[in-house]
Amino acid sequence: MQTPAPTDYVRATSVDDALAQLQKYGDEARIMAGGHSLIPMMRLRLARPEMLVDINDLDELKHIKIEGNEIVIGAMVRHREVLDSPILFEHYAAFRECEKVIADPVVRNRGTVGGSFCQADPAEDLSALGSALRGTVVIRNAQGSRTVPMREFHYGPYTTQVEDGEILTEIRIPIRPGAGSAYEKVERRIGDWAVASVGTFVVVKNGVVEDCGIGLAAVGAPHYSAPEAEAFLIGKEATEENLAQAAAIAADHCDPASDQRGPADYKKHLAKELTLRALRRSVQSSQGA
Ligand SMILES: Cc1cc2nc3c(=O)[nH]c(=O)nc-3n(C[C@H](O)[C@H](O)[C@H](O)COP(=O)(O)OP(=O)(O)OC[C@H]3O[C@@H](n4cnc5c(N)ncnc54)[C@H](O)[C@@H]3O)c2cc1C
Repeated sequence: MQTPAPTDYVRATSVDDALAQLQKYGDEARIMAGGHSLIPMMRLRLARPEMLVDINDLDELKHIKIEGNEIVIGAMVRHREVLDSPILFEHYAAFRECEKVIADPVVRNRGTVGGSFCQADPAEDLSALGSALRGTVVIRNAQGSRTVPMREFHYGPYTTQVEDGEILTEIRIPIRPGAGSAYEKVERRIGDWAVASVGTFVVVKNGVVEDCGIGLAAVGAPHYSAPEAEAFLIGKEATEENLAQAAAIAADHCDPASDQRGPADYKKHLAKELTLRALRRSVQSSQGA
């Protein structure tokens, strides 16, 4: 593999310091978090930043905590910490299921939540789950911060609302009492990126779906989400028939590409089947099964 082109490097001491460095170097600077996506891209010369702003020392971005009715996840939280988090597991078991199938322990020990969202790979598992849960992201720049719905954060593959001179600082996930959640993924081999994956949550009250969210990765679902399927299911009885219909609508909404991971029609089939399985388990968990 190639070595990256020469670059300068600075280790930020705070978010304010990182923002100052980003401002100083403009579009020549790139933030480095875990480096698991950025460094391979630099080796392939797909990215050639002149200045790397390393944010690994920023303890202010390493929390998982509850604020009001939201779970707040700092951008520098590692995959392994998401996997092990009792807070996330208590409210959304899907986080643990999702993290178990992201790469391998080496990548999970280093790769971060913020880096994953900002990389915006179409097969990115956490982005699918974040969209399913209708989270928000907090972006900071020198002027202040703004909060953006997860479903508006990604413009498309590898592009997000984070502009030059900005840092994603937090992901915020609403807590929904009684919600059940699940994550399903098909990969060619353990640790690989998804052929297709789906995260869901469902809140069932008296047999009726009160709320739900569906997020899909690697199958060309705009903003990793399936709003038509959610709209169909909300207010309906949580029957197998209705879940299957919602899964079919979600798959219809996808536009996967044929590639080395499989043909488009196979991926569409997976989108439907995995959505059904995830919805089914979310319903069971919401009903306390
Ligand atoms: C072998 C391998 C297998 C993998 N398999 C999977 C998988 O199955 N599923 C999956 O979802 N992912 C997978 N990944 C990706 C992994 O999840 C990485 O952790 C993730 O892509 C990037 O996180 P990072 O912290 O390493 O980011 P980096 O590589 O440091 O950064 C990625 C991009 O985000 C920007 N960035 C980082 N943090 C911020 C921030 N706070 N604010 C603004 N911009 C920021 C960087 O400038 C860069 O452009 C895999 C990676 C590898 C190497």
